[in-house]
Amino acid sequence: MTEKIQNTYCVIGDPIEHSLSPDIHNFVFKELDLPLRYETVRVPTNRLALFVQDCRKMGRPGWNVTIPNKQAIMPFLDEVDPLAKRIGAVNTVVNRNGKLTGYNTDVDGFRSTLRQSSWSPSLKGKVIVLGAGGAARAVIEGLASMGVHEVILYDLIVERIKQIQHDFMKLSDLTITIGKLENSDLEKQLAEIDLLVNATPVGMWPKENASPVHCPEQIQPTATVFDLVYKPVETLLLRQARSRGAQTLSGLTMLTAQALASDEIWLERNLPKTLFDKVYQHVFNQMEKNE
Ligand code: NAP
Repeated sequence: MTEKIQNTYCVIGDPIEHSLSPDIHNFVFKELDLPLRYETVRVPTNRLALFVQDCRKMGRPGWNVTIPNKQAIMPFLDEVDPLAKRIGAVNTVVNRNGKLTGYNTDVDGFRSTLRQSSWSPSLKGKVIVLGAGGAARAVIEGLASMGVHEVILYDLIVERIKQIQHDFMKLSDLTITIGKLENSDLEKQLAEIDLLVNATPVGMWPKENASPVHCPEQIQPTATVFDLVYKPVETLLLRQARSRGAQTLSGLTMLTAQALASDEIWLERNLPKTLFDKVYQHVFNQMEKNE
């Protein structure tokens, strides 16, 4: 049992059965011909302490963390990488001889998806982010590191935006402006956007007939629209943007990239660039099969 766990990574969360992570990581381990496995473990927040204790005792080499434990895991770790600390969320844990360190690879996933596209920060166009949860924090960190100077942030709860403003402004020279959800402000802004990022769950299966944007006709062909939602792969927002001629980027690309970034941390090596396309295609096929 202990020996098996020493070769087994996992993702913890609650619920967790729906996770695509085993599909991704088991495929990667097989492609790299490594004797490693990856599984899901349902861990409600009140059982985190016990889970971490067991992993330490049995030598589990690492794990991913998802909702609702991305913040709750932090006090149980020996060290948290500065970037994960800044975002306030850990999605990857590595166990190095009993020392547990937490990382956040969502920023890598977001940045590498943008880098694969033709988008680059311009001084003229507006950058809008919808949502002010954990994913939005990774998005803002990624944008700041790519040289974006101003982001307009929309959320249902203004206090959440103010907290992000407070946390990020003391760390970078990025200006975060509060978008007003009322007064059809978003409608006006959309016509001038360079980049729109959906970091809310709006449009996610099983409510895939929803879009966070009520006036898609304002989206210009010069815009780039990035939806972090990965199920469905092409959300209603992305379909709306595509029909306007805009460049669209899918959450599945980011999901694949953040998973490979976790593997690079665990395996302590850079993975071949050619692996990305194979993994993306594999997970895409799996999703089609499961539909
Ligand atoms: P979260 O912590 O629940 O944050 C979502 C935020 O969006 C909340 O503040 C929510 O407010 C707000 N919101 C909901 N509807 C809105 C609307 N119409 N307009 C503006 N704001 C709205 O979730 P998260 O962890 O940040 O994740 C967000 C999405 O990103 C999820 O779909 C997740 O699956 C996806 N994600 C994808 C990847 C990837 O690799 N592709 C990685 C991370 C996350 P309320 O709480 O008041 O509803």
